[in-house]
Amino acid sequence: MIGLLAAGQPLRGAPPVPQPPYVGVSYYPEVAGEEIDRDIRQMKDIGVNMVRMGEFSWCRMEPDEGAFDFKWLHQAVDKFAAAGMAVVLCTPTAAPPVWLSEKHPDILRVKASGQTLEHGGRRQYCPNSPTYQKFAVNIAERLGDEFAKSSSVIAWQIDNEFWDDCFCPRCEVAFHAWLKQRFGTIEALNQAWLTVLWSQQYQSFDQVPLPNPERVQGSHHPSLRAAYRHFMSDSYVAFCNAQAEVLRGKTGKPVTTNAHNPVYQRIDYERLFEHLEIVGTDSYAGADNLPRYVFEADWMRPMGKRFCWRKQPPTTAPAPRWATGIRWSFHQARCTPKCGSPTRWAARL
Ligand SMILES: [Zn+2]
Repeated sequence: MIGLLAAGQPLRGAPPVPQPPYVGVSYYPEVAGEEIDRDIRQMKDIGVNMVRMGEFSWCRMEPDEGAFDFKWLHQAVDKFAAAGMAVVLCTPTAAPPVWLSEKHPDILRVKASGQTLEHGGRRQYCPNSPTYQKFAVNIAERLGDEFAKSSSVIAWQIDNEFWDDCFCPRCEVAFHAWLKQRFGTIEALNQAWLTVLWSQQYQSFDQVPLPNPERVQGSHHPSLRAAYRHFMSDSYVAFCNAQAEVLRGKTGKPVTTNAHNPVYQRIDYERLFEHLEIVGTDSYAGADNLPRYVFEADWMRPMGKRFCWRKQPPTTAPAPRWATGIRWSFHQARCTPKCGSPTRWAARL
């Protein structure tokens, strides 16, 4: 994670919060346990001066509904502050805890096949679920309250890599409202999409289907598919902005999120970052594919504001236990720079 973020003020008696540029890693104190001190020493040895934490740790932050525990995260933040390192904290909404899926199954995303996702993996939530929106804002509020005075926390990240489609009944209702907002009348939609061709004309917005590729002969109308893409993108933008607004208000720190490979085009990143202070993107290109890094960085950088670029491991294949979690990203930072320190490696970009 490399970026130009605004540094906070140091805690009294603690080393100063480092100034930009930052060279960072993703870190997972929820699995690091007693090894955190050794990890911090190794990070400093290779020039890392910032960590990103918390994006998948909701089950530790809120082990059960309304039962919060931030002690472990405070301890981690304090250790990094004592080591003179900066922290980017994340909202954990990319990975809801099992109790949330179990007690409130209306949060779960529905795939094109019609299958409702179950607990496990990541991103199993529907961004248009009012229940999930409520819980997401609530955990953001609690994080803001807990860490508003932590000077080593220099910025916030919302969720992690928005991009998944949902075909649930809530999204269908929201899509109809979105279409009505956009076109005003069904006649205007029919005219804009030329739905008279192939007898696809609609009589009301409620008749417009979600363009489910599993339920159509051939392919859905390209304008319908394009509208759905914009709708899902707007859904995630609204979901992100609701949390960002809370954290900005409570902490006054800049807020970002991380794009998931701009060439996938699942999200309108200009809209996503329009109301965020920092543009961030993840790259999954291999270490031998420098042109792709440059292309992705050039795609995102013109969106303006401060820019944060992250190198991801080149594969998401199962890894040994030590290579998951913190080790995964930290290990990557340790192994990648054949040409020297991460700072020098980053400078080449
Ligand atoms: Zn949905």
